Amino acid sequence: MALYGIYGRHEIDACPINNQKNREMMVKIGKRDMKEVCSKHKINKIIGRFHSALEHTFLWIVDAEDPHLIQQLAMEGGVASFNEVKIVPLIEFENVVDMLEKMDQ
Ligand SMILES: [Zn+2]
Repeated sequence: MALYGIYGRHEIDACPINNQKNREMMVKIGKRDMKEVCSKHKINKIIGRFHSALEHTFLWIVDAEDPHLIQQLAMEGGVASFNEVKIVPLIEFENVVDMLEKMDQ
């Protein structure tokens, strides 16, 4: 299991709420068969897809095999055409505590 946070943000004028082209793109993305998309990009599980409409940010958390394939997905799907996208490796809090405990042993 390898967790990644996919952090995105866009400008207000590029927001799908305000921009018809991006709105149409997002509706199209939302209708994709995610099982097929995940299989193609080696995403084992989507943990969550969270959006803050008025902050114009989003955070998706996925369990995936290859961050380069996540990058490819963001470009292919069009998300990266109007969002800054950061793909960040994540660990769970318990793993942080384990790591910290081992540092002083
Ligand atoms: Zn927005």
